[in-house]
Amino acid sequence: MSSGGPIGIMGGSFDPIHHGHLLAASEVADRLDLASIVFVPAGQPWQKSRQELAAAEDRYAMTIVATAGDSRFSVSRMEIDRLGPSYTVDTLKELHQTFEPSALYFITGADALAGIQTWHQYEEIVKLAHLVGVSRPGHPLPNDEFVKRPVTLIDIPGMAVSATDIRQRIMTKRSIRYLVPAAVESYIRKHQLYRVAG
Ligand code: ATP
Ligand code: MG
Repeated sequence: MSSGGPIGIMGGSFDPIHHGHLLAASEVADRLDLASIVFVPAGQPWQKSRQELAAAEDRYAMTIVATAGDSRFSVSRMEIDRLGPSYTVDTLKELHQTFEPSALYFITGADALAGIQTWHQYEEIVKLAHLVGVSRPGHPLPNDEFVKRPVTLIDIPGMAVSATDIRQRIMTKRSIRYLVPAAVESYIRKHQLYRVAG
């Protein structure tokens, strides 16, 4: 999956993956000149209080179909296949073994970045990867003083889309067209995802 050069890591629950995720990954790849971005759907996201996520296999499949058309993008099953809660620190350690990249760039949106200091083994995370924070509407980018570590902050075109909003739209029978790739919309319809409150 990687030629050994630097790679970007895009973690998330991807419940479902949407154009905000894809734009963020693409912009970071362009700006940092990364040939490869690996999307890592979480198995059991430890931060989420909501119990009912879509099945891991559905979230994985949607991530695959969403990223299929971009040769820079790939999807890893490592968190889905790992037992127990998905911790970023474990993923970064595993990536260091598997990919032997010269550098890992861990990508987060501004909302996730704001809370990153509370993440499990944060001090270890920042030793294993460079942090990259991208802008997200409604969530001001914290400065690197706040994160207390070097962090690359990247302003991207604002897409006020969230998976929470997409799930609510489906439950209330509103359109999700153009918020997610057409293939993801078809997948959700075919598998009847998000029709009942999680
Ligand atoms: P939910 O509403 O269920 O939390 P989400 O839309 O926030 O879903 P996640 O899977 O939680 O999606 O996010 C994965 C990563 O993508 C996080 O780092 C998050 O900050 C980032 N991200 C998600 N949506 C956007 C967006 N519209 N713009 C920029 N970054 C985003
Ligand atoms: Mg989120």
